[in-house]
Order: sequence, then C-alpha cells, then structure tokens
Amino acid sequence: MNNLHTETLCIQAGYTPGNGEPRQIPIVQSTTFRYDTLEDMGKLFDLEADGYFYSRLANPTCDAVAAKICALEGGSAAMLTSSGQAATFLAVFNIASSGDHIVASSAIYGGSFNLFSVTMKKMGLETTFIDPDCTEEELNAAFRPNTKAVFGETIANPALTVLDIEKFAKAAHAHGVPLIVDNTFATPVNCRPFQWGADIVTHSTTKYMDGHASAIGGAIVDSGKFDWTRYADKFPGLCTPDDSYHGVTYTQRFGIGGAFITKCTAQLMRDFGCIQSPQSAYLLNLGLESLPFRMKQHCANAQAIARYLQGHEKVKWVNYCGLEGNKYYDLAQKYMPGGSCGVISFGLHGGRKAAEVFMKHLRLGSIETHVADSRTCCLHPASTTHRQMTDAELDAAGVGADLIRLSCGLENTQDLIADIAQALENV
Ligand SMILES: *Cc1c(COP(=O)(O)O)cnc(C)c1O
Repeated sequence: MNNLHTETLCIQAGYTPGNGEPRQIPIVQSTTFRYDTLEDMGKLFDLEADGYFYSRLANPTCDAVAAKICALEGGSAAMLTSSGQAATFLAVFNIASSGDHIVASSAIYGGSFNLFSVTMKKMGLETTFIDPDCTEEELNAAFRPNTKAVFGETIANPALTVLDIEKFAKAAHAHGVPLIVDNTFATPVNCRPFQWGADIVTHSTTKYMDGHASAIGGAIVDSGKFDWTRYADKFPGLCTPDDSYHGVTYTQRFGIGGAFITKCTAQLMRDFGCIQSPQSAYLLNLGLESLPFRMKQHCANAQAIARYLQGHEKVKWVNYCGLEGNKYYDLAQKYMPGGSCGVISFGLHGGRKAAEVFMKHLRLGSIETHVADSRTCCLHPASTTHRQMTDAELDAAGVGADLIRLSCGLENTQDLIADIAQALENV
C-alpha cells in the first residue's frame, strides 16, 4: 500500500475484508476470545503466535484502525491508546524509566508538559525543556549520558510554533536516542515526520483524526528505522530478555521494525490497560476516511480568517504559520507545504477585556477547551485553562492575557468571517 496516496490510504488501508465479510470494519465488542486448546492459547502468552486473548492488550478493531494510521505515517507498526495523553506516556515510558532523562521542546501541549514536569518526575524520570528555536549547540548541550529520548510537537498546541524536525532528529541521533514527535495538529495529511528523521510518532486522535468531537483516543506509530541494538546498553527493555514473557528479547524476535510496538503492547498495555475502546476506534476510523478533505477546509478557513484578522484595526497581532511574515512561515513551508492546521491565535488591542467581549458575541464559534473538530470553537486561556496564573506568569508561558485561540471548523468561510466581523464590532 506504500505507493498509494493519502486519500486512498484513508479509505482503504488497515482492513481488507475477505469473501462475504463486512465491508466496514467490524466493531469487535468482546473482552475475550475463545480457543480450542490450552496449547493454542499458551502460544499467545509466549508471543509465539498472532492473535487476541483479552481486549485490555489488543483488539481487532483497534488493530485495523492502528494499521491505517501506520500506513498514513509510513511506519512499520502502530497501536491505539485510550487518549493522546496515554500515547505520550507509553511512547516515552517504553524506553525511559526511573533514573533516565529526556529532552523535550518547551513548546508542547500543557498536558504533556505536566506529564513530564510533574508526574513522570515523581516516577524518577527527569526532563530538560528546551526552546524549540534554540541553536544546535544549545540543543546538544541538553543531553546527558542517561538521556533516552527527545520529544517535540510538529505544531505546538497552543503556542503554534513549528518544530525544526531535522534539527531535532540530528541531535537525537548524534546522541544515540530516538526523536518522538507528537503529530496531532499537522496530521499525516500535512506532515509525515518520519520523512524528516523522526523515529516515533504519537497522536491525540481526539483532534483532527476523529474530527467530530466524538471520541477520546491516541495512537503510537514506529518508523521501524531506529536501530535499538546499536545502542543496546541504553535500551535494555528492548534488547535484553523480558522475564515477564519467558525471556523473549523483543528486538531479536520482532526485529527493528516490530520491537517497540510489540513491547509497548505486551508489557505496558498489559500493565496499564489504557487501550482505546473498539467503539471509539470505529468512530475514529469514520473520521479518518474524510481526513484529507477536512484538513483542506480547516486550513483554507484558518488562512482566510488569519488574513482577515491581520487586516482588522482592532486586532493587535495574529499568529498562524501559514501567514507570510510569521516567524514559522519558512519552517511550515518546508515541513507542511500543503497546509498546516486550522488553529490560529490572536490578540485584540483591548487586551483581556476585549477578548471576553469578542468571545461573548461570537454566534457560530463556541467557547470550548477543544480544538480541531468540525465546529469552529475558541478559547481564552487566561480566563479558563490558565486562570490560576497572573498576567506576568501568562506572558512567561507564552500565553498572554489577551490571547484568543481559534480553531477554525468546516463551516463556510464567508459565514465565519461575517461572524467574527460582527463580534469585533461589539468590542
Ligand atoms: C489534546 C492533545 C494531546 C492530549 O490528547 P488527549 O486525547 O486529550 O489525551 C496531546 N498532544 C496534543 C498536541 C494535543 O492537542
């Protein structure tokens, strides 16, 4: 399927029904699976045969949808998780644990920032956060002997910075560790991080992939290109026997392309149980079918609205990497020539107060913490998600008190601009 285009993969990849079988991916709503003999089932527990035994670890519906996302990213293996947060956690924890260290871009999703800076820290895993616009020297200086991975976001939520994937991949590989990229905002329609050297991709499928605000979910994809065995001392979990599976060594049994996801499923999914429900995977798959067409409209709306806001007298600033003159325009053109995402941010001259008035008067755009679904929605972080912070703290976090985040939906462009225009008249 590798030579097929994205639109075709979104429809056809991951599931090919046999003669007389359901055309649409069946929802296998079963916790467990029946076997004829103990020997049959025993082989599954030794990872000697392919198959399912308990949906806490793996389920056929989830696997079919994961295979589609794997094809879209051009990876070697993939798995679904119950949320984007679970995907981030498992992807990192699969290769780094207590006593280890990771390097992460400081411009990442707030949930990921908390996960690294608070929860994983409590687990003994330290993170050094680094400005994504740093020099190569600064980036290289962040590594330690116990560094196990580098993490960044293609387009950061909500800062909207664009990651220089090649720069980050080069530094990671120079230190013998993989680059993990959260590709949620760009989606594989607009960017395929593996082409630029990333080794593992994660997703919050809750966003554009689902696209209808209907199901929480996540995904992890392995490029199959990082040779764990070259740095076997850094990655003992992949390169030495796993006692909880009768001494299987993942890289030996499943190869460079299969080790990461097999270990993550067999070990971490078994122990944490944060798998996506088959129902949610089914909904996610419906979203994936139309993803390329929806991304076009999200991006077109964002581009038109960003331009409109930029020319409006009441607007102080607009941040969208698709705008010429934006700090990240060149990086966006390099990594996402066909479009970036539908999320923009901007501030009004009247600051915090004006933002509140503007949002109150929007009719089509609704107030939500969500982004990336078919309905336009907006958020004023200073009075909601970040309301515990002072104005000075907000500035330091790059989320000024005036910042409005607008997620452009799939509505008609002129209708959205008219709605924004009337809301601005009230400011
Ligand atoms: C929302 C989001 C997450 C977390 O995903 P959930 O599905 O909400 O757990 C991670 N990364 C990015 C970029 C996100 O936007």
